[in-house]
Amino acid sequence: MTDASPSTDEAPKRFLVRTFGCQMNEHDSERIAGQFGAEGMVATDDLEAADVVVLNTCCIRENADNKLYGTLGHLKSLKDRRPGMEIVVSGCLAQKDKESIRERAPYVDLVFGTHNVHRAADLLRRSRDEGPLTEILEATVADDYELFPSAMPAQRELGHAAWVTIQIGCDNSCAFCIVPAVRGPEISRPFDRLVDEVRDLAAAGVTEVTLLGQNVNSYGRDLTLAARQAGDDVRVRPLFADLLRSVGAVEGIRRVRYTSPHPKDLRPETIAAMAETPAVCEHLHLPVQSGSDRVLAAMHRGYSAERYLQRLADARAAIDDLAVTTDLIVGFPGETDEDFEATLALAAAAEYDSAYTFIYSPRPGTEAAELVDRYVDPGVVAERFDRLKAVLERSALRKHEGRVGRTEEVVVEGPSRKDPSITTGRTRQNKLVHFAAGRAIKVGSYADVLVTGAAPHFLRGELIEVTEIARHRTRIPVAAG
Ligand code: SF4
Repeated sequence: MTDASPSTDEAPKRFLVRTFGCQMNEHDSERIAGQFGAEGMVATDDLEAADVVVLNTCCIRENADNKLYGTLGHLKSLKDRRPGMEIVVSGCLAQKDKESIRERAPYVDLVFGTHNVHRAADLLRRSRDEGPLTEILEATVADDYELFPSAMPAQRELGHAAWVTIQIGCDNSCAFCIVPAVRGPEISRPFDRLVDEVRDLAAAGVTEVTLLGQNVNSYGRDLTLAARQAGDDVRVRPLFADLLRSVGAVEGIRRVRYTSPHPKDLRPETIAAMAETPAVCEHLHLPVQSGSDRVLAAMHRGYSAERYLQRLADARAAIDDLAVTTDLIVGFPGETDEDFEATLALAAAAEYDSAYTFIYSPRPGTEAAELVDRYVDPGVVAERFDRLKAVLERSALRKHEGRVGRTEEVVVEGPSRKDPSITTGRTRQNKLVHFAAGRAIKVGSYADVLVTGAAPHFLRGELIEVTEIARHRTRIPVAAG
């Protein structure tokens, strides 16, 4: 039975962080949870019992506003019943909408943005003393180590795997994207600190790390520039490739992933580092967005379809058994039938293992949102979307069928949500495998599985043997929205 009574003065306050949006947001949520944990608060996944509820928002997804205000409405009714409850709104939407959140939802206790996640616990304390508070910083301070999400205490969703933020912000200006406006320019975290953090994680039993950034390939560009401006004799070098090698060499780290690279910045050195570092997984998520050069130019992506496919071919030639995934937008303003046919042709040529397909929807504040007179008819977009999905699913199924009969190493993620008698694991190529294990296996353990069947979005298999039992220490849930 759930204990929904409010905490007493003596009892530690219970908090729940609900995340909307991308991995960067989920990572920020871990840091917020980490700070609250360090203050003696305890995590709960029961909304009714939570004393503090944080909505960590995202403005990239469609209907972000509606989702936020809908959830806030529900929280208000909870707060009416339990006036001591504290409501916090953080993240991209808070950054973008600033004061208007408090205007529309005056019962919110604290609003903070993307540049001051590191102050979450402080701000919460202040709002208790001083009353409702909003703090939105316009920019991140480059040399303040504490500002980086990874530099703060964390409570991680999966104890065997960790995200490590290597860079925040983005120097690009993709016409459809709000990230540069809400996250600011690129700032990279110092190389040695990142490697130290991964060492610490490995010591705590983490075996898989995912390096996070909006444009990971350009990691370190700002560090090199700053060092040169300071008069140091620095060679311009692809620091991201070096980082992959160094992180991959940390003892105990068996899998290194990263997201997301920008195709225009995918350098041969990165491909070589992937090929030559055994821990770096054979998976490349390379967002293409469109196959039409005209649309790519309008999006300001900085590459052509041909150049993209060439980089893909180079990566596949260098990295054995590489899985490739992508993001695609259908119906960008002004997209013609001819443009869309080019996207279909690229999708077929690229032979993706899987893809995230999005119907274009305008994000207020972006360049593309202004192109109202060029919006594509929704019926046309829906039809294009279905055709593209069919091409992508065909290629995903072909790829997956090609793996039947092979033995794959998986990391166990736990029982399948649909059928708890089935165990779910993830391969180095980032593919889900549902397999019969016949017994419970600790999350984070490594196992060999024989692949016996394929579907467009997953594989089926049978356990051969557990090769390593997980040894991480924590498993603390952070709710996903
Ligand atoms: S590279 Fe483009 S899509 Fe990615 S975060 Fe930067 S502006 Fe947005």
